[in-house]
Amino acid sequence: MAWIVRLVKIGADGEEPFADIMKINRPDDLGDIANLGLTVADAKRLLAGLQQEIVAAQAKDHAVRRPDCRSCGGVCHVKDYRDHAVATHFGQVTVRLPRFRCAGCGEIEAGIGWPSHCRSTPELDQLQAHFSALMPYRVAADVLKQVFPVDAGKDPETLRRHTLKIGEALRNEAVVRPETAAPAIDVTLDSTFIRSCEDGERHLEVRVGNVETESGSGGRQVFGAVAKSDTDIKVLIGRSLDAVGRTEDTVLTAFTDGCSGLRRILADTGVAEAPILDWFHIGMRLQHLKQITSGLSADDPARAAAKAVIVEEVERLHWRLWNGKAKDAQISIDRIGAVMYHFQGETGARKSIAPSRKLWTALHALDGYLSGQSDWLVNYAERHRAGLRVGTAITEGTANFLVNRRMDKSQQMRWSRRGANLLLQVRCAVYNGTLGSGFGQKFHPANDTHPQAAIAA
Ligand SMILES: [Zn+2]
Repeated sequence: MAWIVRLVKIGADGEEPFADIMKINRPDDLGDIANLGLTVADAKRLLAGLQQEIVAAQAKDHAVRRPDCRSCGGVCHVKDYRDHAVATHFGQVTVRLPRFRCAGCGEIEAGIGWPSHCRSTPELDQLQAHFSALMPYRVAADVLKQVFPVDAGKDPETLRRHTLKIGEALRNEAVVRPETAAPAIDVTLDSTFIRSCEDGERHLEVRVGNVETESGSGGRQVFGAVAKSDTDIKVLIGRSLDAVGRTEDTVLTAFTDGCSGLRRILADTGVAEAPILDWFHIGMRLQHLKQITSGLSADDPARAAAKAVIVEEVERLHWRLWNGKAKDAQISIDRIGAVMYHFQGETGARKSIAPSRKLWTALHALDGYLSGQSDWLVNYAERHRAGLRVGTAITEGTANFLVNRRMDKSQQMRWSRRGANLLLQVRCAVYNGTLGSGFGQKFHPANDTHPQAAIAA
């Protein structure tokens, strides 16, 4: 069987002569299910064909409009035609446009309103940036090539260049303020590291966070910037706060797990109260501790008893921290330490480190962490009961969510300061739904759950 796809233009004067876009041949034997419907190759050819026809018609209409001479205001005549190659997401097109010459003074004029250095459509640029924000440039280029009749997406380096350009442009975009003011906003700020390809630097520090209004009432925005890049994190936080409705009367509450540097940034952006230690980070450590504890061996009665004590104490430790009794955490840590000798000589499965040694390390790390952060721990249970946040609402942590998934150390990628920072701007815009119009995945109150680890002990 064969089909002809025919394009009919309806202009001001009614129907114009049609153009045949393509002939589609498909078998009528459905014994092979692969014969069902259009192939991807057909679809790509169809889209590319449609695009070329429509662009050609647009160019023809556009070319009829004659400019007046800029020098003398005289009448212009067509001098010659020039081809302009433009990449679109439905393939590369050639736009044939006239140049004009003034009949009076001989001045050359370009066509009306044609952008002189246009190589690609904004929609293609955005599509490439969107894909690049979610996956490595090479993969993004490949996916685009698989799905669209894209020529310009073939080369990862082109993709990278376009994406970074969009990242740069995002910085100057006006903030869209919501109609309703936010009485309270929670801000979280965190930092993580990525591998650096800059001279003399192994890692780059990346600051990330999000702002959220009270659940249900409105927006959430994520933000991020590489330290010492062209993006000022304080300006960025300010813009994010404005975007979810900050006014002079808004009460700001901050969460962070970090060094004094992050606390200073928060203070500089107008957070009056001392930041709270994000429960997410405590929860992660407790989860880790519980996992190790469950792996302890119980191969004799003494060890079984000791393990039971440890399991119970870890639960109690969780309860203490959740209920604002962090100063009693030491009691739990000491009790665990007191029965640890039962696990002397414990061996790990298949040459791995024995669980008791892992537990010892994790416990020490937690101890050090808590004593460093003790001023910032609060009664999380009380906040939770009052319907207040205890930490970041992005369950896996903003740093993981925004940075590690795309710029992960394990992927062996090395980043330039500028490249990482600008890509991060695009990534944030994708998640905030502010990249272009219509194809963001805006955060909704629906995924506004408390972190899994926050469920009270
Ligand atoms: Zn002229």
